[in-house]
Amino acid sequence: MTSHITDAPAVALPDVAAARLPQERRVVTEIPGPRSRELQARRAAAVPPGVGSVLPVYVTDAGGGVVVDADGNSLIDFGSGIAVTSVGNANPRVAERVRAQAERFTHTCFMVTPYESYVAVCEALNRLTPGDHDKRSFLVNSGAEAVENAVKIARYATGRQAVVVFDHGYHGRTLLTMTLTAKNMPYKQGFGPYAPEVYRMPLAYPYRWPTGPENCGPEAAAQVADQISAQIGASNVAAVVIEPIQGEGGFIVPAPGFLPALAEFCRANGILLIADEVQTGFARTGAMFACEHEGVVPDLVTTAKGIAGGLPLAGVTGRAEIMDRVHGGGLGGTFGGNPLACEAALAVLEEIETGGLVDRARRIGEIMLPRLRAQAARHDVVGDVRGRGAMLAIELVKGGGSTEPDPVLTAEIARRCHAAGLLVLTCGTYGNVLRFLPPLVIPEHLLREGLDILERAFDG
Ligand SMILES: *Cc1c(COP(=O)(O)O)cnc(C)c1O
Repeated sequence: MTSHITDAPAVALPDVAAARLPQERRVVTEIPGPRSRELQARRAAAVPPGVGSVLPVYVTDAGGGVVVDADGNSLIDFGSGIAVTSVGNANPRVAERVRAQAERFTHTCFMVTPYESYVAVCEALNRLTPGDHDKRSFLVNSGAEAVENAVKIARYATGRQAVVVFDHGYHGRTLLTMTLTAKNMPYKQGFGPYAPEVYRMPLAYPYRWPTGPENCGPEAAAQVADQISAQIGASNVAAVVIEPIQGEGGFIVPAPGFLPALAEFCRANGILLIADEVQTGFARTGAMFACEHEGVVPDLVTTAKGIAGGLPLAGVTGRAEIMDRVHGGGLGGTFGGNPLACEAALAVLEEIETGGLVDRARRIGEIMLPRLRAQAARHDVVGDVRGRGAMLAIELVKGGGSTEPDPVLTAEIARRCHAAGLLVLTCGTYGNVLRFLPPLVIPEHLLREGLDILERAFDG
């Protein structure tokens, strides 16, 4: 392999505390192996096919940078359960705090009798999210529920109804959030009618911008401002909802200047800016939150995925004067801010802050990006390499001068990686993006081995 040429040798990942599992790739059967295939057959009779799995190996153990399956294979993890287990699976600090909490009480319902950990998580969210203004937070169970609540609050606070979202956006699978989501298959097909008062705008997608990436930010911002004004009327818009780096839609980093211009347009028109940081939050992009890369301060921020090491938890954080409007009892839910999940979140935040994981995410990007760019130089089917920190992707196209998306090749490369013991995910409106979300604690040798496997997957 040519990796020694393209690696940036100056970048090194410091070791993290020794993981419980051997940090090695081990492929001892076909993937999925016989035991996983048995379980898959059982599942087919119990679980509807509408619930998919990227790679049906049945997991028995996971930690650090590996996922171990029922056949004894140990896969290198470039997925983190979709950007969730950033601090590592079964992180010892998370496991210990959850265990101790499970022995004290597992649920009271915060709306019935509250407890301190919920308040502590909200204090942390208020402290860590962008902007030093006075904030309030509350907790729910999923990213979709967080986005849904942010929209409810924005409508309440502004007395307006329209919500603006973007091409390639992904915000969840509930009625409102699937409406906010751009992609039809598999998220919307046959599930309508959709929620009203949702309007979709062009996104500043540098790779596919008709007049070129350098014009993309300002042109897209101008188009959005014009379309909102002309088609909806800015004074009817409650909120603009945007992922500061798009996740499911293809890891699209909006062209520079687009997000700040959008924030300015919102401010000038009394529109609330909701940053959906469900996938990008908590150190993933080499900043605590992705809005920070462009100095954007949203009015409301939604968080979930990486917040609690895999326990179901999500947050809505916003300006105090907006959040405090809603009448008593207007917000909440039975399980929201479950005490086990809150303890996990406090452990995760400690790991991120004391473990220097923001910096580590940035270094992961510095190791991976040159290798991915070298792939692009070698293979013209790699149309674009993009992302920030440990949220990176390559977009695959037909090549030979064509930028037509190639979902078939993308699936084939992912399949080759899986067979070799590297867990990668795909995404994108056209299904032609390979995305990489390693746990931030992944040991450097596994990160580099994963990149070697990816390179070989391109060679056939
Ligand atoms: C995953 C995701 C959601 C939905 O979160 P769930 O917990 O799956 O409901 C919303 N927004 C973004 C940006 C996401 O990546």
